[in-house]
Amino acid sequence: MKSLEGIKRFEKKVWLSSPTMHGEELQFMKEAFDSNWMSTVGQNINEVEKCIAERIGCKYAVALSAGTAALHLATKLAGEKLYGQARPHEGTLKGKKVFCSDVTFDASVNPVAYEDGEAVFIDTEYDTWNMDPIALDKAFTIYPDVKIIVLAHLYGTPGKMDEILEIAKKHGALIIEDAAESFGARYKGKETGSFGDYNAISFNGNKIITGSSGGMFLTDSKEDADKVRKWSTQSREDAPWYQHEEIGYNYRMSNVIAGVVRGQLPYLDEHIARKREIYQRYKEGFKDLPVMMNPYDEKNSEPNFWLSCLLIEENAMSPLVRGEKEYLYQSQKGKTNPQEIMEMLAAINAESRPIWKPMHLQPIYRMNAFVTEKGSGRGQSNAYIDEGEPVDIGADIFRRGLCLPSDNKMTEEDQGRVIEVVKRGFVSF
Ligand SMILES: *Cc1c(COP(=O)(O)O)cnc(C)c1O
Repeated sequence: MKSLEGIKRFEKKVWLSSPTMHGEELQFMKEAFDSNWMSTVGQNINEVEKCIAERIGCKYAVALSAGTAALHLATKLAGEKLYGQARPHEGTLKGKKVFCSDVTFDASVNPVAYEDGEAVFIDTEYDTWNMDPIALDKAFTIYPDVKIIVLAHLYGTPGKMDEILEIAKKHGALIIEDAAESFGARYKGKETGSFGDYNAISFNGNKIITGSSGGMFLTDSKEDADKVRKWSTQSREDAPWYQHEEIGYNYRMSNVIAGVVRGQLPYLDEHIARKREIYQRYKEGFKDLPVMMNPYDEKNSEPNFWLSCLLIEENAMSPLVRGEKEYLYQSQKGKTNPQEIMEMLAAINAESRPIWKPMHLQPIYRMNAFVTEKGSGRGQSNAYIDEGEPVDIGADIFRRGLCLPSDNKMTEEDQGRVIEVVKRGFVSF
């Protein structure tokens, strides 16, 4: 690793993205306490469901214990819609393939496995780092029977929605939109979380706003929202006793958590504005370096800039090999790699993280199919480059990219120090 001489260590750790609290959260939590609605029912839940449905532009919202719970019930619902009600011990996707984003957090796609389905991973494009419509179109030629697409907007940047919606329509496929990272982001003026048939957002501690945990399911269908509400409360039937005709889950949001979300909600746009400033400051700070920032469609989309990331140009990458849990690199003048920068940032007490490792490279999903623009096969490809052209774009972005400290509470001076460290990575003496 390069020398950090002259750069001061942060006394207080600078985070990738940590909760930014304002005070109103406590008030709404206290209201829950004082009114004794310390439960999964109450005013905070009703309010956040109403406000978030309005904000996103979906008719119905169901507050749940996590984004993962929302994605699970969305996936189960899509399966039931298409393939009918499953037997109690079976998932609704038994034996069925589902097209999924590849560079995403595994919570996007695990629900396909919970429901006994099989994820087929679709490669990523360079313009927004999201699902590649060309690879998706190709996947439909290989697996024409697939009827569900699980799509995430990575780091708060909307994907190529026009193209993807058109392909989905052509094939009569349902879309599950994972807007966990992109709450508040817009594509052509429309909020992410409103494009899918079933949509999910998250209030995990690191997201753009938080409840400390929590998530939400969104849809325009009343029948589907009611179903999810029922499943999330142990599938209790309308009877004087506990009566169960379907398998249930304990997935409802707590009214205390909803109080935190309710207090955060008025600050969503302020958080986005801060994140945008952070992104722009990095972009400016790196303008003379052989790196680019995570890109977006400047004409059509307004990301929420949840995480700022960099991508190192190929010719400025020093050699790096990664095993399953360990890595090795060579430090070279004028060049660097994401692991070296990560070590340097850690040395000044700042958190960074490699780009989410693509699903098709994960040990649990390595045997699943993976479709790229150029071909299809199973995971574990290390052949990023073929005749000078990347074959596996997700793997290439993972190899060259890094998520930078993007915390709202980082000062301009703090960020200047982070930028200085990144510059040191490329020193040529
Ligand atoms: C955070 C996240 C989730 C899961 O949300 P939780 O509320 O933590 O369960 C799902 N998908 C993506 C892309 C995420 O980043």
